[in-house]
Amino acid sequence: MRVRLTQLDGSLPNLALMKLAHWHRERGDEVHYVRHAHRDLMEPDYDRVYGSAIFAFSADRVAEFMRTWPGAIVGGTGSESKMTIEEITGPDHDGYDYSLYPWYEPSLGFTQRGCRLSCKFCVVPGKEGKNRSVSTIADIWRGEEHPRKIHLLDNDFFGQPEEQWRARVEEIRAGGFKVCLNQGINVRLLTPAAAEALATIEYRDDAFKERRLYTAWDNLKDEGIFFKGMDMLEAAGIPPKHVMSYMLVGFDKNETWDRLWHRFNRMVERGISPYPMVFDCRARDADRYRELKRFQRWVVTGLYRAVPFSDYDAGKKAQRKERAVQLSFLDAA
Ligand code: SF4
Repeated sequence: MRVRLTQLDGSLPNLALMKLAHWHRERGDEVHYVRHAHRDLMEPDYDRVYGSAIFAFSADRVAEFMRTWPGAIVGGTGSESKMTIEEITGPDHDGYDYSLYPWYEPSLGFTQRGCRLSCKFCVVPGKEGKNRSVSTIADIWRGEEHPRKIHLLDNDFFGQPEEQWRARVEEIRAGGFKVCLNQGINVRLLTPAAAEALATIEYRDDAFKERRLYTAWDNLKDEGIFFKGMDMLEAAGIPPKHVMSYMLVGFDKNETWDRLWHRFNRMVERGISPYPMVFDCRARDADRYRELKRFQRWVVTGLYRAVPFSDYDAGKKAQRKERAVQLSFLDAA
């Protein structure tokens, strides 16, 4: 069987496609991995075509893909499909084909799925359901010939039973692993015990260079609980300068620039790096969306430290940089 695996967005390896590649190759199938939706001039016919999209902003690409490949199987958090990989591979198949991404050094995976919260804009609770442990660090790590770098895609690491997250933290610590948690830890439900555990591990950014913990402050009404969590991190020995916080903008219909600036300024004053995530509000207010994207570029390029927003010109160079930074921070399988 000839199979096309199509990664429609994201710069990180796509875990779902890696699993499908492994499953098909075990069956002796011929696997072609591509990143474009269109059909190349020289492309052969396929017996089966898959597409995976993880971002909502990829809707246009998904539509193009479906027009080009009618009958394709599409999945991922950026699609409307609720299909899981296990429905294709069966529940017992294990294994990921990293050969799709020969440049990638860390080991990638989930220790848990699901989330304790249910934010209105988020697909995770609907797609992943209740919080549960799924793998150990030993399961995820590719072994001695690979660096001790683990990129976890968990959406709620501390939502799994305490004995499980404690066991994972101990594995990370004892094994000398560096770990990236760029889906974010849930600071609203943080406990002092969880903060203390985080302080004992080598948390890193997604390049595994800088000390970085990721979290989110999406609603103004969460101000008190957000800073309570930040206080816990700081009391445990994690300085705010290690924290990058996603901030959703454009979703709340009552959002004003004053409210947005309040969130932004409070984080900056505390030493936290904000990372605006722009909700696609084009249908409601295209001008506001454009202005929010300009705000996002101003922040993620770091220019907010040097140039007032009113003077910022989001030219082409800044747009390219913003795109690169966005892709590196937002990947998820
Ligand atoms: S806390 Fe994060 S993963 Fe959980 S529902 Fe909210 S946005 Fe989604």
